[in-house]
Amino acid sequence: MGEQRLGDVIDDHCIKCRRITNHSIVSLVSGQAAKVRCRTCYHDHDYRHEQAPPSKKDLKRAELEAQAELAAQNGQPVEEPPGGDKNTKAKSEHA
Ligand SMILES: [Zn+2]
Repeated sequence: MGEQRLGDVIDDHCIKCRRITNHSIVSLVSGQAAKVRCRTCYHDHDYRHEQAPPSKKDLKRAELEAQAELAAQNGQPVEEPPGGDKNTKAKSEHA
């Protein structure tokens, strides 16, 4: 075993089906699956070793946490600086 070939059917996580489904190998790199096609919805994607990608919710939460952490490190609350007139003027001129 070990060697994979084009057209072999392997399990992988399909982001469209949102679960592990059968995939056909459509691209190989050094004998390993690089790209696969879901046999359920025919969506092509990089082989992700059966790992589900982080959901948008998770990404958003991680982003917010990172921002909060950064603000805490700087010791500053996240606030708009005063005198933001310039920005609004530029926007209205553009519109
Ligand atoms: Zn699918």
